[in-house]
Amino acid sequence: MITRSPANVQIASDLASSLASSPSSPPGAPAWQRQLANVVRDPVELCRRLGLDDDALPGARDGHALFEVRVPEAYLTRIQPGDPTDPLLRQVLPLVAETDAVDGFVADPLEETDHTPRRGLIHKYAGRVLLIASPACAINCRYCFRRHFPYQENSPSRAQWQETLDYLREDTSIHEVILSGGDPLAASDRQLAWLVARLEEIPHLKRLRIHTRLPVVIPARIDEALLEWLGSSRLQKVVVLHSNHAQEIDAEVVAACARLKDAGVTLLNQSVLLRGVNDSVAALAALSERLFEAGVLPYYLHVLDPVSGAAHFDVPDEEARHLVETLRDQLPGFLMPRLVREVPGAASKTPL
Ligand code: SF4
Repeated sequence: MITRSPANVQIASDLASSLASSPSSPPGAPAWQRQLANVVRDPVELCRRLGLDDDALPGARDGHALFEVRVPEAYLTRIQPGDPTDPLLRQVLPLVAETDAVDGFVADPLEETDHTPRRGLIHKYAGRVLLIASPACAINCRYCFRRHFPYQENSPSRAQWQETLDYLREDTSIHEVILSGGDPLAASDRQLAWLVARLEEIPHLKRLRIHTRLPVVIPARIDEALLEWLGSSRLQKVVVLHSNHAQEIDAEVVAACARLKDAGVTLLNQSVLLRGVNDSVAALAALSERLFEAGVLPYYLHVLDPVSGAAHFDVPDEEARHLVETLRDQLPGFLMPRLVREVPGAASKTPL
């Protein structure tokens, strides 16, 4: 049963507010929040910082107008300056191709807005639901299938958060809650601890899954405050990281993964197959190897969801299958991600 103490009501209100605003850094905020508040948001600055020619600027400005640039410093340091083909840069630098209208590429490729029985709650699959725990991201990935998602319409008020919890309590077939976003770890530890404590009170919930890119892009996010609420939860804990390239996994990311494992968290990774980023056997093999060095098992390799503005990242299915078949010759089975597509209305991910 939910305890509606004044403190709980305040945190629910804070969480509701977080769903409607960008991250800010209050005085005395932890290091990760300061990094989150000081990301590079200007495409011109991004190009200048990386010593890129001015011919990259028009496309960067056009794409930025559609989906703003957002790059944390900790990620910027892993990009090779002066290399316009750097696989990390390609994920964050807008190109003029984002303005192209391409048949089949749409604003809501997964038709998620048809599966929101409560604000901020997506219930597509049996036994599990997804909560939009934060609309904010530390990084804006150019290929993101939620780049047009109506976060404001899915930002629950305090009362609506209680309705979401009631929905979970009433449906005893739900055993797993997935925190998503945006990036759920962009919410504060106070807010997340409150939410997870409410989830723990629902007896039929067994697992908490967190889909996040924050430990990869700002590894300082995995700090003591986070480990306290996550490590002490009675729920089984799974963190599904989102990394697309071995170059993203530096020593700080490895250390962040080790802290999560020490807290009893199962670590998996999902990637998106992206033209110009990881569309080679060598890149995919290096990613799997590097993930395992960090204690993370490859889980899914998604083909691109056809979201408008991202068609230039698409790798055709035949090529994707061929890449994965060749990869299988090079890696042990436990390092092989499953190649999947998300199909609107399907009961699970669809293997290719
Ligand atoms: S972090 Fe995830 S939700 Fe945020 S822009 Fe990147 S892919 Fe999209």
